[in-house]
Amino acid sequence: MDDPSHSPRAVEIAHAILNHGKPGACTFYRPEYKYILPVHKDFDTFDFTAVPALNKPKVLELARGDWIEQRANACFIGSPGTGKTHCAIALVLAACRQGQRVRFYTAAALVTRLEEAQKQYQLDRVLGQLDRTDLLICDELGYLSFSRAGAELLFQVFADRYERKSLLITSNLAFSDWGQVFQGERMTAALLDRLTHRCHIFEMNGESFRFRESMKSKKSKKGD
Ligand code: ADP
Ligand code: MG
Repeated sequence: MDDPSHSPRAVEIAHAILNHGKPGACTFYRPEYKYILPVHKDFDTFDFTAVPALNKPKVLELARGDWIEQRANACFIGSPGTGKTHCAIALVLAACRQGQRVRFYTAAALVTRLEEAQKQYQLDRVLGQLDRTDLLICDELGYLSFSRAGAELLFQVFADRYERKSLLITSNLAFSDWGQVFQGERMTAALLDRLTHRCHIFEMNGESFRFRESMKSKKSKKGD
């Protein structure tokens, strides 16, 4: 069977740009090489036993991509270091392999991109680019709060995708605290209403994987 990553659609994912962190800095998915990503994370290196609360079959089902066809959303909510970004990147890779158009931003980078675009009278163009993606990732929502204008732009992007395109959000904040990001109960309620209407929600609270690994290596050094 032909490798689907070599299909014309997959080559088009030269535009499945994984824009990680820096606005405008693009990382391309090149099927003929390996995946070039800021960090490469996949499910084969994800230890599901470390997060027993995470529904492994459901996460792996998302990797099959039907939820994107159905224009549903996904949220990974939980404390730092529990693997939210790891799962998000693994789902990005899965979607790229299936030929979906994907863009990956941190929430801060996305807001910066929108604000800059607005200043330069380029907002429509950037909104159009985002609109042409099947899946938009907004990583780390909640670490930084935005100006009112920034929050409104982010709201606009999220609300525009409702029932049309998929959105994957990772956040350290419980939904009840999203008012801190979207400044104002009304906007937050309107957003959550749309976002959670058809949404796969994964709660990933627990001890940080990083912390646990570093404790393990300290212990094993002591035992040497
Ligand atoms: P979060 O986004 O929730 O803060 P990350 O996904 O960035 O956490 O995870 C922090 C680090 O720990 C990353 O290097 C990630 O690959 C690793 N990690 C987290 N959880 C797991 C896990 N269950 N199995 C393997 N590696 C993990
Ligand atoms: Mg993260």
